[in-house]
Amino acid sequence: MNYEVIDSHCHLDFPKFNKDRHETIMRAKESGVVLMINSGIDYKTNANSLELAKKYDFIHATLGLSPQMVPETNNERINQILAQMERNVDKAIGIGEAGLDFYYCTDEAGKQKQKEVFQKVIDIADQYNKTLVIHGRDGEELALEMTRDLDRVVFHCYGGTIETMKDIVDAGHYVSVPTLVCFSDHHKEIAKNLPLENMLIETDSPFLSPRKGRNEPVFVRDSVPVISQLKETDEAEIAKATMQNTLRAFEL
Ligand SMILES: [Zn+2]
Repeated sequence: MNYEVIDSHCHLDFPKFNKDRHETIMRAKESGVVLMINSGIDYKTNANSLELAKKYDFIHATLGLSPQMVPETNNERINQILAQMERNVDKAIGIGEAGLDFYYCTDEAGKQKQKEVFQKVIDIADQYNKTLVIHGRDGEELALEMTRDLDRVVFHCYGGTIETMKDIVDAGHYVSVPTLVCFSDHHKEIAKNLPLENMLIETDSPFLSPRKGRNEPVFVRDSVPVISQLKETDEAEIAKATMQNTLRAFEL
């Protein structure tokens, strides 16, 4: 099918693309993935994301601080990343991914530190009026409580409960459906219950491939027929709506 789509979240700077990064990017672009949003997760990947955005006018960067690394990272390093975000905020379309990950981190001290650092990231998004991209694995409810008052929020790769998802939608936030929807029943349930007006789609490449091996932005197209069937809506309509939502979510 001949419609355009956006991959609202990927990591094209990761080592898995070292051998064929440009080819992968062009493969997506030529197949009608008209925009890719590359998410940083730490100092190095934030810098890489800015580089990619500079090199390709159809790639945008968000500057993040992954909650997974927070418990083991010293405060000086964390402050360096926060300062990097502020310094480069004009070159990025959003802040994130950042948030909470209570799947990998189950001890109280680590959770507390994630929460404190996330609050600092929220304050930056708020202060500079930037869209916040949330990674909220097993902490979706708390992440919502902490960001309820922000204007533009995207819950990336959402995998939480349907109930919390409805609260997220009620708060006016966006929910991004990953290519996991191609094979995960829970993500199919999410896509089915998520209003199309609040839906973004993403690959989270190189992770969570709907095919064998590495995921890449062109595979975002795989999710469109699946979502189309779940929502009993034309594929072109799904592509158009998720594209417009992404543009609105990031004020593009
Ligand atoms: Zn990601």
